[in-house]
Amino acid sequence: EFKNELSVKAMKGINRPIYEMFNLKPGEGIAGSVYQTGVPLLVQDLAHDPRVHQGAKPRYRTPSFLSVPLKLRNRTIGVINLADKITGEVFSEEDLQLLQAIGSYISIAIERSELYEKTEELKRISITDALTGLLNRRYFQELLTEEIERSRRHPIPVSLIIVDIDNFKGFNDTYGHLGGDEILILLGQALRNYIRAIDVAARYGGEEFTIILPQTSKEDARIIAERLCKEIERNESLQKKYSDLAHLTVSVGLATFPDDAETFEELIRNADRALYQAKLQGKNRVVTFSNGLFS
Ligand code: GH3
Ligand code: MG
Ligand code: MG
Repeated sequence: EFKNELSVKAMKGINRPIYEMFNLKPGEGIAGSVYQTGVPLLVQDLAHDPRVHQGAKPRYRTPSFLSVPLKLRNRTIGVINLADKITGEVFSEEDLQLLQAIGSYISIAIERSELYEKTEELKRISITDALTGLLNRRYFQELLTEEIERSRRHPIPVSLIIVDIDNFKGFNDTYGHLGGDEILILLGQALRNYIRAIDVAARYGGEEFTIILPQTSKEDARIIAERLCKEIERNESLQKKYSDLAHLTVSVGLATFPDDAETFEELIRNADRALYQAKLQGKNRVVTFSNGLFS
């Protein structure tokens, strides 16, 4: 957020409650004018220094202080102030030079950490779905590939379920696309709350979600999927939104590696075929893919 205001970000040896409160506009007060001009200020006696405005006098114990702009190339990003030299002496020209040297390191460090935060943010955006905050399809596929590799190395099964909302077109027709989006957000939350710490939930597409269940046999995955179906039927915040129509329900398709597939594409395809069967059999149910059959 850019407010064009100076606010206190760090301090040492200062009475916190007073200094946490105040923000300065560029040009305001001592730090504000150093920020605006980009010129450092060494004041030896603030009572008699014409550059220090009346009314802008800080309540320091000693009359000498330093204020240095933090610069990145030609941009000023902040100000560092030093006051009340421990020895009680006035600040010298050497002190100023030292603070300027330190200031240039600080500026670079700040730039680095901002860059780091931006990178982290970009990373987050590129792996998550903007509407639900769940992982997106692309990242889901990456993770599933990894899980399958892991499962190959230590022969432990990994199960995959695909969840599709029943009759969602009808909901959109009644409540509009935005109403539909709200349901997707709530369902995303419900899935996130429901899954175990080792599981991964993703938005696979429109109103379809996938859950990777690592180290989970088909039998255990079936129990988890059945419970999920019931959980959604009982989820109050979801059902309240849907009140005028029939209950919000989902259909679930389940397949397990290596029982049902040799690759991640095949695993997805077979879970999807099971989902299709769940729809055919009347929706609001779990269907498991087994040896090319459905149960
Ligand atoms: P079925 O029980 O067979 O799944 O019926 P359905 O109505 O859910 O049909 P289908 O899965 O084929 O259609 C999905 C519908 O979901 C189509 C579209 O209107 C809606 N949809 C897909 N993505 C979004 C989205 O991002 N937001 C909203 N609001 N609706 C979406
Ligand atoms: Mg669908
Ligand atoms: Mg659907």
